[in-house]
Amino acid sequence: MPRTWFKESCCAQVLMEMTPEMAEGHRLIVRYFALRNTDTRVTCVRGGTHGPNSKHPQGNAVDYGFQGQNAIANREAIGDGLRECLNEGCPNNGCSKVFDVVPEITHWHVEYDPK
Ligand SMILES: [Zn+2]
Repeated sequence: MPRTWFKESCCAQVLMEMTPEMAEGHRLIVRYFALRNTDTRVTCVRGGTHGPNSKHPQGNAVDYGFQGQNAIANREAIGDGLRECLNEGCPNNGCSKVFDVVPEITHWHVEYDPK
């Protein structure tokens, strides 16, 4: 059974660090991984060190750590899948995307970024 776990703090605390929009995206991500029988691992919401324009401090970005070799080997494809799933409800197909997903070295960086 897939589970959601967090490196830094407990579940409720991590959700409280997210804006409502980011928390909504987080629920879709947990579902995406659960359907693929994979754990969801949040490694960072507001904590950590980020660039000056980072959306982490406001709670509009979450990092999801890679889980196992499959995640590492398929980081781009899984990132595409996450992006698609997060922006599925986006009005007028072809509107600017609301969530960005960036595969990094150890994690997917996901941010809520309405244009
Ligand atoms: Zn990040």
